[in-house]
This record gives sequence, C-alpha cells and structure tokens, in this order.
Amino acid sequence: MIIVTKHGVTQDELDHIRERVESLGLRTHVSQGEHRTVIGCVGDETRLEGVSLLSIPGVDTVHPVMRPYKLASLDFAAEPTRIPLGGVQVGGEEIVVIAGPCSVEGRDMLEATAKAAKAAGAHALRGGAFKPRTSPYSFRGLGEEGLEILKDVRAVTGLPIVTEVMDTRQVDLVASYADMLQIGARNMQNYNLLTEVGRLRRPVLLKRGMSATVEDLLLAAEYVMSQGNPNVILCERGIRTFGTATRNTFDLAAIPVLKRETHLPVIADPSHAGGRRDLVAPLSYAAIAAGADGLIVEVHPEPETATSDGDQSLDFEEFEALMASLGTFAAAAGRTLNG
Ligand code: PEP
Ligand code: MN
Repeated sequence: MIIVTKHGVTQDELDHIRERVESLGLRTHVSQGEHRTVIGCVGDETRLEGVSLLSIPGVDTVHPVMRPYKLASLDFAAEPTRIPLGGVQVGGEEIVVIAGPCSVEGRDMLEATAKAAKAAGAHALRGGAFKPRTSPYSFRGLGEEGLEILKDVRAVTGLPIVTEVMDTRQVDLVASYADMLQIGARNMQNYNLLTEVGRLRRPVLLKRGMSATVEDLLLAAEYVMSQGNPNVILCERGIRTFGTATRNTFDLAAIPVLKRETHLPVIADPSHAGGRRDLVAPLSYAAIAAGADGLIVEVHPEPETATSDGDQSLDFEEFEALMASLGTFAAAAGRTLNG
C-alpha cells in the first residue's frame, strides 16, 4: 500500500499515520518530496483491509500495490486453468463453442437446435430454464420442465449442458442437471448465489455484470473460488454505456486485460453484446483475435418466433456459416477449432 499525504501535511500527522500503519504490523518507508510525502507500507497488505486510511488526518490518497483478488490472480497459478466441459477443455488450445437458444421453449426445438449445433461443431448446448427477464411479464422459462428437456437432449446428442441458476434455493436442483452453471449478468454480484455455487465443484460460467468493472468480475470469481470451487469461466457479454447502436457495448479490451490478470478461462458472448444477429460473426472474430478461449452463441430454429432474444439468435444455417468461418480466425490466433 502506498499512502500519499496532503499538501502541507504536518510532522505530527505524518507521525500519526506511520504509527497507525506500524501498529497493524507493517513497516513504513517515507519518501519526502517538495510538495508531498509518500509513505510506502511494507508487509502483509491484507492487514490494512477494512482500515479507513483515508479518514486519517493528512492522508490524501491510498494506492494498493497488491491485487484485491488472490485465487483468481494470474500470480496464483503456474499455468492457465483448463476446465473440462464434455470432451473439451475450456482454456486449452481449442476454441470452445457453446450454442443454443436463449430459453428452452420445448423438447422438439431444443433437440433440433442441439443436433444442428453439434453438426456444425459446437461443443456444448446452452439454454435457459430459469430466465432473468427485465420485465416480469416476459416469458420467464419452463423451470424444472426445461431442465428435464435439457437432460433428455443431452442423452440424445451427448452435448454437455450449460444453463442458468438464478437463486440460491435452486442451486442444488440446477446442479443436478447442468454440466456448467451459468450465473447471469444480473446476478454477478449476488454474493449469496456466488457463495452457494462455490460450495460445489461444478464449473461456473460467470457473466460480467452490466455495470461491473473487470475488478468487480474478478472479485465475483474470487467469491466462488474462495468457497472451494476453482472451476470458474469468465464471460464478457457487453456492458451498459451511453451507446445505443448496440444492445450493450462489447468491451473487447476486457478480454486481453482479463488474460493479463487471471489464469481463469475467458469466453465471449457476441449475442448479448451486440443484440443483433448480423453482429454475432464480427464480434466472434474479434473476440478470438483478442484471446478469448471460447464463445457462447444464441441459436434458434426460427429466431422470429423465439420467446426471448430472437433478434440476436442465429438460425441453423447462419450458425453453420459462423462455425465454418471461425477456423481461420482461430488459426490466426494460434488456436484450433474442432482440432
Ligand atoms: C442469457 O445468456 O440468455 C442471458 C440472460 O445473458 P446475460 O445474463 O448475459 O444477460
Ligand atoms: Mn439471451
């Protein structure tokens, strides 16, 4: 921790700041400038967590040197984390593609989508049974019936399933069906939910909150990991900004920034980021170029009749074309697709 003092700090104030820090078991190193004095705090920085340093007279700003997240930090692991999903590993050399409808609407549509997705090269099937909808009057998912359908379709196609859990009370239920538990953007800071999925070992797909910083996202991952579940995959799905041309603003730079900060795999969701089917391919290409380990893409047999997110859903043909074009980008990024 580095403490910068206010202009004109007195010797008494300076002594008091140092005493306060030293009383917590750290050493201090003072560097006196012409206008300001900087106090370097040497030792276990975690001891300063929760101490209101800014309220000490004479303190102007405080700058942590250590990352606030530990388990999620790149420093913590010798190698990038790989998380198994069906036959592939997210975070390995291969770009992993999770495809499927926004919502599970019925057995036939899910089975048809899963078969088309698999034939095109997808590695896993997505589909929400519990849907977080902005309006309470929108379709909110089939619930447990949707989970049953996902399970049946997995039995038919062999594709592992990724589905959202919204509530602490549903964690055990959803986990009894899902190969990967999705925590949606709206729940990224639902700390009780993060704690509950942290009790399990089931992989967690953690989507970035709409107004979450990269640090917020990593601290949310830290919640899950600190409970004992190391299997967290981060997902950039766009954030809210003043821009109105797209549903969200795809924060492409967050992908290499995350890669610099964490050993956890990072995937991108071009569907929710752009909100329009014609943006899915270019955002996918960009995500792979930026270092994403995979994609989660919405696919629907008939997007115009979809109960949710039809505008951003690809039909089977479009998804096949996307998959066919991804290989070039994967290769350029030093990755494989269905290798
Ligand atoms: C979804 O994946 O359908 C979804 C609701 O995504 P997000 O939480 O990113 O909005
Ligand atoms: Mn959706």
